[in-house]
Amino acid sequence: MPRDLFIGGDWTAPVLGGRIEVVDPATEETFDHIGAASAVDVDRAVRAAHAAFNKGPWPRLTGAERARYLKTMATGIVARRDELAIIEVRDNGKPLAEARCDIDDAATCLRYYADLAEAEDRRVENVGQPADPNYSLRVVREPIGVVGAITPWNYPLLMSIWKVAPALAAGCAVILKPSELASLTSLELGLIAEAAGLPPGVLNIVTGYGADAGQALIEHPLVDKLAFTGSVTTGRKVAAAAVQDIKRISLELGGKSPFVVFADSDIDKAVEWIMFGIFLNQGQICSATSRVLVEESLYDRLVERLAEEAGRIVIGNGLDEGTQLGPLISRGQYDKVIAAIERGKAEGSRLAAGGKRPLGFARGYFVEPTVFADVSADSYLWREEIFGPVVCVKSFTTEEEAIELANDSRFGLAAAVMSKNQARAERVARAFRAGIVWINCSQATFIDAPWGGYKQSGIGRELGRWGFEAYLEVKQIAANISDTPCGWYRR
Ligand code: NAD
Repeated sequence: MPRDLFIGGDWTAPVLGGRIEVVDPATEETFDHIGAASAVDVDRAVRAAHAAFNKGPWPRLTGAERARYLKTMATGIVARRDELAIIEVRDNGKPLAEARCDIDDAATCLRYYADLAEAEDRRVENVGQPADPNYSLRVVREPIGVVGAITPWNYPLLMSIWKVAPALAAGCAVILKPSELASLTSLELGLIAEAAGLPPGVLNIVTGYGADAGQALIEHPLVDKLAFTGSVTTGRKVAAAAVQDIKRISLELGGKSPFVVFADSDIDKAVEWIMFGIFLNQGQICSATSRVLVEESLYDRLVERLAEEAGRIVIGNGLDEGTQLGPLISRGQYDKVIAAIERGKAEGSRLAAGGKRPLGFARGYFVEPTVFADVSADSYLWREEIFGPVVCVKSFTTEEEAIELANDSRFGLAAAVMSKNQARAERVARAFRAGIVWINCSQATFIDAPWGGYKQSGIGRELGRWGFEAYLEVKQIAANISDTPCGWYRR
């Protein structure tokens, strides 16, 4: 029996009975099934959300009342932390230690937006007294309405929560369509919401393929806002579908983020942060710092050390304590990453470490941590998002050259710089054309700071108060407070 869809507060099978196998990427075994929703199921879910928003209590509750539900959901996640982490590992492949952090972050995110919902009750937007004393002006924020949230597979529960938490806090009703490759923890979120007593229809979860369930959701006329995280290719489809009804959109897309290392950096620190920036989550991170630029005098030593350390990473089933690198998400992703590595070799980049399936792993979608050196700036490897444990390293001679190479990309999600010279690090940080910049580190993520990209890496920001505003409309209320008539048509 596949796991059901969560629509209007009920668990229900897809009308056409479609199902998708859930495969453990470490063993290649099918261990569960999820429903494959069709347009009919999506329509039911959207109508349930529409009714919950227009006829139900949810958008009319105070922020403090909504916050109570979010906090109860956070408690529900914490209570099942270890179990959820294990489900995430089996579904996605990531090491257990990383999955535990994701589950903790999901609970933190719900609490954070609960606090913002409470604070919203006290918010007064001061627009001042208008020039005409016959009027008073107010500005209020109201929920956008019905939200279609579409998420990827790399941080399954966390990416869902980054959308569901602020949307619910704002008073919206949500239809969540998680990735067909990793939906289990998002379905568990439905159980947690149900146990928290969330009113029916406020959160609906439809699993299914992008071309069917996803496309039906982005085209549905009763959806007011689309919140999407995924590839640029799909992001374009989301933006195109949104045009029809002028839906609001947030897009969190891909990246090819640079990491600039100056020669005054501590080599041990540099190597460790570079590894953290590209091998975490098997490199399947939108903000992975996959292009490393190293000042010439440090370059050879750094490549050598990085290759050595990459070779020491413990590869294994994510469920085994001590595993530092698990399998990629799927056969498709494995094939894509191996093909990119082959292309890198053919392009003439120097393979310094990894580059193949690790020895002793006959099954599972494992790829060795891979380091390419001497990568040319016009190569496929340097320009395209690989979304795997593959880092490209290149040298530079001047600060200007480093900045130019770093910004020479259609993406602009993240960028990192390492130097002991604070003034230089600050200069480079400001020169990066990217939405997230790290100094002397990589991948540090903060719930209260805006997350999102410049250029083709997306539109809008998640997290922090920016992630909350993304689910609110702005309304001005102008009141005539004088007794004098309008007078326009009087002679
Ligand atoms: P993807 O675009 O293939 O899929 C993302 C989601 O879109 C899935 O739920 C999928 O089913 C759905 N989808 C696919 N086709 C659709 C369609 N026609 N209409 C509606 N929905 C459709 O991306 P992915 O492979 O799941 O994720 C990897 C990508 O996500 C990478 O490019 C990565 O950089 C990006 N990503 C970005 C961020 C960020 O915050 N910027 C975070 C995580 C991942």
